[in-house]
Formats: sequence, C-alpha cells, structure tokens
Amino acid sequence: MSMQAPYSRMVRDIVFDTLAQQGRAPSIAEIARITGSETDEVQHALNQLADDHALVLSRDGDAIRMAHPFSAAPMAFVVTPSNGRDDRRWWGGCAWDSFGISAAVGIDVRIDSTCPLCGASLTVFAGPDMQPEGDYAVRFPRPAAEWWSDVVATCTMIRLFCNQGHAVEWTDEHAPGSGYIAEAATVWRLAQPWYGDRIAPDFTPHTRDFNQQLLQEVGLTGPFWRLP
Ligand SMILES: [Zn+2]
Ligand SMILES: [Zn+2]
Repeated sequence: MSMQAPYSRMVRDIVFDTLAQQGRAPSIAEIARITGSETDEVQHALNQLADDHALVLSRDGDAIRMAHPFSAAPMAFVVTPSNGRDDRRWWGGCAWDSFGISAAVGIDVRIDSTCPLCGASLTVFAGPDMQPEGDYAVRFPRPAAEWWSDVVATCTMIRLFCNQGHAVEWTDEHAPGSGYIAEAATVWRLAQPWYGDRIAPDFTPHTRDFNQQLLQEVGLTGPFWRLP
C-alpha cells in the first residue's frame, strides 16, 4: 500500500464523509468543485485510491462503486439508524459491511436482508455495543486471499442466513464444499475494529498484519483466513 498523498487523502475523506452523511457517493465533478481542482486530478486520485484498495470504482472507472463498508448502489442489505430520528439510509454491501456501517458511523442500526435459501426477510439490530441476537449465520464465499480479485462479487456473496442449517443447505445446492460459515455475532465482533475507525479524521489504513490479527482475535484462523 502506498502512502496517501495529501490530495488523495482529501479526496478519500470526501468520499467517505459523503457516504456516511448522505448514503450516496459524490460524483467526480462534485469532488472537483469541493477541492477546487480539475476532474482529471480527481480521477487520478481515485485511480490511486482504488489501486490501494481504499475504495472500488465502477466497471468503467468513472464513478465510485464501493468504499467499504459503504456501497454506492443497492446490494442485499439496507442499514437504517434504529433511533427513529435519523433519516439516513445506507446500502450494506454484505453482512460484514452492514455491521461495519454501524461501527464506522457509531450508531445502533437495523439491518434488513433476505435469506438466500428460503427467502425469509431478516431483520437484525446491532450497534457498537449491541451484539446481534439470534441464530443468524454469515457465509463467506471465498478465501481471504481471493477477496479482492473481484471484491464487489465477494461482497455480493457474503450473505446473512436464518441459521447455520440454511447456510449449509444453500452451499450444498449452489457451491458444494466451498466457503466458510460463521456466526453473525463473530462477524459483528470483527466489524468493530475492522471498520470502527474508517471515517475517523485520523484514520490510518490498516496493515495486512494488523488485519490478520483482528481476524485471529475473533477466531477466524487457518488457510481460509490468510490475507494476501
Ligand atoms: Zn432461511
Ligand atoms: Zn463486504
């Protein structure tokens, strides 16, 4: 990971701040206006940030697609502040990201999704100090070493299931022998330190070793969880 130059850091912070505060990604023209720069400078900074895995661009490279834990487009999760007074909404890219939005923004949330096996509507409440209740399971489709080979596809497949049994049954039907099924509470616990500092002004990108330690601390160990 390269050091972030001050300009790309400014662009990065605008992207995350807009997603956190408004639930949408800023356009390139908008970032150019806010920073008083040309759109090709913004594009260059975004390309660099994408190379560093600080965010994900659209297929054509001219828009922000994801800035983990935020997604700029609908995916399988809707994240809503649970206090009833905050009218923000976010698209959760995956189960892990949905817990991560709560961790990053620092609020209790309601997460709505659907079980891929049985189609049941799932509603989970979680917060920085509120562990999700219930038997929910989260299935990871591929080993950590392969997540960023297509990170949007990876997130698309990190889904929440009613329980371990439904995750096992879905795997047997659609992708036998693949993936890893974790308890939702484990993924919630992982999301707190992984994403909790993401919109902090003094955020420093985590090193690989730091993130590996976070995985280990919640019991996600072995070859499947070895980061590249
Ligand atoms: Zn189900
Ligand atoms: Zn994700």
